[in-house]
Amino acid sequence: MDFELSLKAMIRDQIEARGVTDPSVLKAMASVPRHLFVPESLRSYAYEDHPLSIGYGQTISQPYIVAFMTEALQLTPEHTVLEIGTGSGYQAAILSLLSKRVITIERIEPLWRKAKENLKNYPNVLCVLGDGYQGYPEEAPFDRILLTAAPPEVPQALLDQLAAGGILVAPIGSGYQRLMRYTRKGPTQWEREYLCDVIFVPMLPSVERYSSG
Ligand code: SAH
Repeated sequence: MDFELSLKAMIRDQIEARGVTDPSVLKAMASVPRHLFVPESLRSYAYEDHPLSIGYGQTISQPYIVAFMTEALQLTPEHTVLEIGTGSGYQAAILSLLSKRVITIERIEPLWRKAKENLKNYPNVLCVLGDGYQGYPEEAPFDRILLTAAPPEVPQALLDQLAAGGILVAPIGSGYQRLMRYTRKGPTQWEREYLCDVIFVPMLPSVERYSSG
């Protein structure tokens, strides 16, 4: 299997052909070997036009949607980015090539462990095991926030961790979701834009939130 050829075809036929044109996004997508982020048994499918299972009921998103969301974030090399839902680490790798620093949060420990290994060559990514609903107050505010799991409503704690002028992109809703972009316009003001319909795994509440101890 020629992974390089498959990667080139993926960029051309799935991503450029559907209208993602930002050269920096295309370059980042072309620089990350996606087959190294999927389970070994699925490597030959890594460049196909759909999500793939990564275990624990979770998926690595379809390549096009990764590119589309990355473009929607309008990243610059100065940005600090928070991602909720590390999964395989693939999206975090792409973000890391277009920004200064990426904090990515995952709630399933074995996925967090594996993602850390997958991301060992991406030194500006910090993998955190925890609950994305809390964000990461230790390093807030963030210039950009990306959710790759879908909450029923946009979490206020995450909107609050956006820097002035910052952008949050998230799939919102249950079942089918609407991909939304929020831009912070003031201390209590966010502009909201609908981007498209999507299907993501749900963003689950952490067990800790319900423990009584
Ligand atoms: N961005 C990933 C794909 C995301 S799949 C990639 O590139 O591979 C969505 C991930 O969100 C899953 O791994 C799931 O465990 C995680 N997740 C769901 N709810 C979460 C929460 N509250 N906090 C952190 N991670 C969460």
